[in-house]
Amino acid sequence: MKQYIDEAEKVLMHTYNRYKIVLDHGQGMYLYDVNGKKYLDFTAGIAVFALGYNMEEYNEALKKQVDTLMHTSNYFYSIPTIEAAKKLAKASGMDRVFFTNSGTEAVEGAIKLARKYFYKKKGKAGGEIISMEGSFHGRSMGALSITGTKKYREAFEPLIGGVKFATFNNLDSVKNNINDNTCAVIMEPVQGEGGIYPATEDFINGVRKICDDKGILLIFDEIQCGMGRTGSMFSYQGYGVKPDIITCAKALGCGVPVGAFVATEDVSGAFEPGDHGTTYGGNPFVGVAVNKVLDIYESESILDNVNTVGQYLSLKLDELKQRYSFITDHRGRGLMQGLELAFPVEEIIANALNMGLILISAGKYVIRFLPPLILDKSHVDKMIDILTICLDNV
Ligand SMILES: *Cc1c(COP(=O)(O)O)cnc(C)c1O
Repeated sequence: MKQYIDEAEKVLMHTYNRYKIVLDHGQGMYLYDVNGKKYLDFTAGIAVFALGYNMEEYNEALKKQVDTLMHTSNYFYSIPTIEAAKKLAKASGMDRVFFTNSGTEAVEGAIKLARKYFYKKKGKAGGEIISMEGSFHGRSMGALSITGTKKYREAFEPLIGGVKFATFNNLDSVKNNINDNTCAVIMEPVQGEGGIYPATEDFINGVRKICDDKGILLIFDEIQCGMGRTGSMFSYQGYGVKPDIITCAKALGCGVPVGAFVATEDVSGAFEPGDHGTTYGGNPFVGVAVNKVLDIYESESILDNVNTVGQYLSLKLDELKQRYSFITDHRGRGLMQGLELAFPVEEIIANALNMGLILISAGKYVIRFLPPLILDKSHVDKMIDILTICLDNV
């Protein structure tokens, strides 16, 4: 493995401090490195592999499409894309879909749609966006501009203008940032990269009400917390609040690069031909992936499993919090959970990896749990056993 890692460090740009393993293949809840060592996976490629690895039904559908037609450009229609859009619109309770190639592009599209909606309504440009401190929306310039962590943004300024940051879960802070040019409020209903912070019911309902009163669009970034992760198909459904635009990616394709922004009929109507585009976005290959993923969510009752096992995981993490005084907080919904420690978690994660458990952090102090959604309680027990040893060694 060392040779591969040395080569990688010569040829890949150093934008990540990668874990020192080279992964080779996966099966269900497990990943294997090139030496054949087995790892229990509680990260799912950052909330991507919701259905676990090497799922036959999914693989077969993709292989078939490779031999049929992978790409058409968006000047043509294709059946997998039409079917995927219908299913995604239904699952989200929204009306119209634009497929992208990643999460950050979905966010870019959502920003453009909100600004175009403002432009049409007010007859002028200049729509401002309110985002949240601690939020994460992606790495491209628009998405970065609304990402609420200064250290990600600073070196890349000037970013897009007309962005304000409010304090997450503080309604007054949102109110204080609103003016006549505010076109949208964007938030993750459960902040992911920022440290697994769920919105409170009062906050999310309160923001919806403010937006309704002032004619402002509400955008939910569901890229990490959506696709069943928190126990409902999209996390806003668990809160009972309906947005005007959502962004989706990560588990949407379960490994195939695909994202989407989805909006109501009224809001979608702001876009006209020529306003937005993508060469690859929503091609038949990714269309098949989205179709299969959404089908399997139904046939395998994925949401029921998230609710059952999510509750169990939450219980077990609460027990850890009781046992170790240096665990300062436990937060999360469904299978999106976090443990906050009084010191950096890097070493614990490295030790877990040595013992065959893949975990990631969210910021310096939070261990993040994002397992494939197909796990059962025995996987939780196994994870807790290994993590307990790592915590005992602190
Ligand atoms: C991962 C993530 C993104 C960015 O998605 P990419 O596919 O990495 O561009 C945006 N928003 C949230 C909430 C995310 O978790």
